[in-house]
Amino acid sequence: MKTIVDTGFEDLSRMNFEISEEQKLVLDEVDRACRELRPFEDEAYLAGRFNEHLAPIFKKAQLLGLPISRRFGEGQGADVLTYALALERVGKEGTGVRTFLSGHVSLGQVTIQKWASEEQKQRYLPSATRGEKIMCFGLTEPTAGSDPTSLRTTFEDKGNYFLLNGSKAWISNGSIADVAVIFAYPKGKRDGMCAFIVEKGFEGYSSQQQKHKLGMPTSDTGSIFMDNCHVPKENLMGQPGKGLGIAYSGLMSGRLSVAAGCLGVIEDCIDEAVAYSKQRIQHGKPIGKHQLVQRHIGDMATSLEAAKNLVYKAAVLKQRSDSNTADRDLRDDADVLIAKAKYFASNASFEAADRTVQIFGSSGYSFETRAPRHLVDTRVCRIYEGTDEIMVQKIAVSLLGQDYEAYR
Ligand SMILES: Cc1cc2nc3c(=O)[nH]c(=O)nc-3n(C[C@H](O)[C@H](O)[C@H](O)COP(=O)(O)OP(=O)(O)OC[C@H]3O[C@@H](n4cnc5c(N)ncnc54)[C@H](O)[C@@H]3O)c2cc1C
Repeated sequence: MKTIVDTGFEDLSRMNFEISEEQKLVLDEVDRACRELRPFEDEAYLAGRFNEHLAPIFKKAQLLGLPISRRFGEGQGADVLTYALALERVGKEGTGVRTFLSGHVSLGQVTIQKWASEEQKQRYLPSATRGEKIMCFGLTEPTAGSDPTSLRTTFEDKGNYFLLNGSKAWISNGSIADVAVIFAYPKGKRDGMCAFIVEKGFEGYSSQQQKHKLGMPTSDTGSIFMDNCHVPKENLMGQPGKGLGIAYSGLMSGRLSVAAGCLGVIEDCIDEAVAYSKQRIQHGKPIGKHQLVQRHIGDMATSLEAAKNLVYKAAVLKQRSDSNTADRDLRDDADVLIAKAKYFASNASFEAADRTVQIFGSSGYSFETRAPRHLVDTRVCRIYEGTDEIMVQKIAVSLLGQDYEAYR
């Protein structure tokens, strides 16, 4: 545990964010998919319904298995930074669009790739990378959010199967997912959490769409119910009792995806704000010539640059940690840097959306423009995968030491 702020000079030599030819090819495909998706997303957003084109269009761009090994279906074997850059581009299309990928890929598939047995990977990853089976990650419950150790879902070992009981709430892709990573305690115990791969078709499993959300109408959020749900023995994932560690590792991947998507939100806000500021005339000149409007644009651009440096650096560090799994200090460093990236980028994206609504004036109060969609959609980034408060405490405790953990 470091006790002083790391000046990070030695890290500078490792910070090469130049885009390679290979990355450029991937990003061109992602860009093409995003352009194809936009009219469908516009239509679905205004109609307030799920965008059914998400999976088919992203499948064509081979995005559904981008960070998954080529050994599994349409996995592309991309490194963490390339995947983050792809999510940055996707983020321009909206937080809901990116959240679909976070649930399916970053939380679902990446967790299975890291922790499941070879047999489980072969069984679940190929169809997920092809978009035939959609994934989700079920940790949160009605009474367990920031504190996942308080979850109430339980399992019982019934010999040749496990019996799961409990419910999960606010799960991205929750009502459309075919496969869920589910966390549960042994019945009657408060430790020894386990992770399971649970299929929609298993007896006793049901799900329901979350209605009346603040934003993200075009992607799914749902509840999952397990009522004497029969889960085959071979669907226990990872070591028995190691579920909490699996959950935290999934959250690292999920948080980075949130932070990367927020970069795209800020970029889209800047694009919108700059274009509108040149076109809208008030007091005889384009509003972009009014200095207080310029202030909004200058602040957004500065935040974007700072957020990019945090997110890219966190992605590079996570890559190194993923390649050196025995190095716990490296993992802890990556964990904290990802928390910083998520905390900063999600606040910067919310602020950029707010500034852009302000620049648009009353036009920014209509969902027919993009900024108010970003405003309501990106708000969730300060809540899910660890709230602002949990992120900032995690960052502070990395300096103060574990004895200062606020909620122990
Ligand atoms: C659209 C959406 C999608 C989601 N997708 C998923 C998903 O795919 N999978 C999944 O498992 N979950 C998902 N979640 C759940 C999300 O991760 C939780 O909502 C989040 O962790 C916060 O939990 P909570 O809502 O129960 O808030 P609570 O934990 O009840 O927190 C309420 C408030 O108290 C604060 N607080 C709590 N504890 C502390 C503390 N120790 N110190 C200081 N402040 C504290 C919080 O910061 C917050 O401000 C999703 C949520 C939303 C809204």
